Amino acid sequence: MLNRRDLILGSGAAIAGGTLLKPGAAFAASSRIALPTDIEAGDLITVTASPTHEKYVAMTFDDGPHPTLTPQLLDILKARGIRATFYVIGRNVSRYPDIVKRMVDEGHEIGNHTWRHPVLSQLGTASVLRELDRTAEAVFRAVQRMPVTMRPPYGALTASQRRMVHDEREMPTILWSVDTEDWRRPGSSVVADRIVAHSRPGAIVLTHDIHSPTIAAMPSALDRLIEGGYKFATVSMILGRRDWTKLRWRLPQTVVAKN
Ligand SMILES: [Zn+2]
Repeated sequence: MLNRRDLILGSGAAIAGGTLLKPGAAFAASSRIALPTDIEAGDLITVTASPTHEKYVAMTFDDGPHPTLTPQLLDILKARGIRATFYVIGRNVSRYPDIVKRMVDEGHEIGNHTWRHPVLSQLGTASVLRELDRTAEAVFRAVQRMPVTMRPPYGALTASQRRMVHDEREMPTILWSVDTEDWRRPGSSVVADRIVAHSRPGAIVLTHDIHSPTIAAMPSALDRLIEGGYKFATVSMILGRRDWTKLRWRLPQTVVAKN
């Protein structure tokens, strides 16, 4: 099983066995987004929001990719030059790798949301790592990059498990500061209103790109945030870390040969 420890991280273009993995053309247009300047990347175990005081919000979309709704969402984000973070389920990635590729081509970050969406707090260490590694490998196969942050399904990960994931896989556990509770299907206008009402500088907004009212809520929610002076960044970027899509990934030769 391949994991991030086998890869060498740096900045700049991604490299696979000497081959440059170039970002897609659409990426260039959206890569000029500035970052918060008042924060430094720290050693993080659990994150609910960024400490920035600048008006940045990280939109996060869990449980996809969905074959029809996720492409609709990508169109909405692209029209506004917004970069978001997708906490994908591994088995969906293996089903729809082209949608994950489009996400990366358009400047979005991919996060790890486990392989089959279990309650991780009820699992042992080996099972938790297997859930994460299997998903990381599926993402890698799709886009030659691995997630650098994870979000536990239902937010269910004990403090000692969060420490373990940090120590074993170097991933902070990303929770949220704005919960739309869109999975309860309150209606798109309620979802949009919650996002706008509760967003603060540094907010991480939890939504799901598998519910059509959530997608329908986005144009209004995003446009109102933009009118309010907000900018958008991916989770890594809002935490002062490197732009995930620009990380350099150098693969061991065994992996290159396998692909
Ligand atoms: Zn989920």
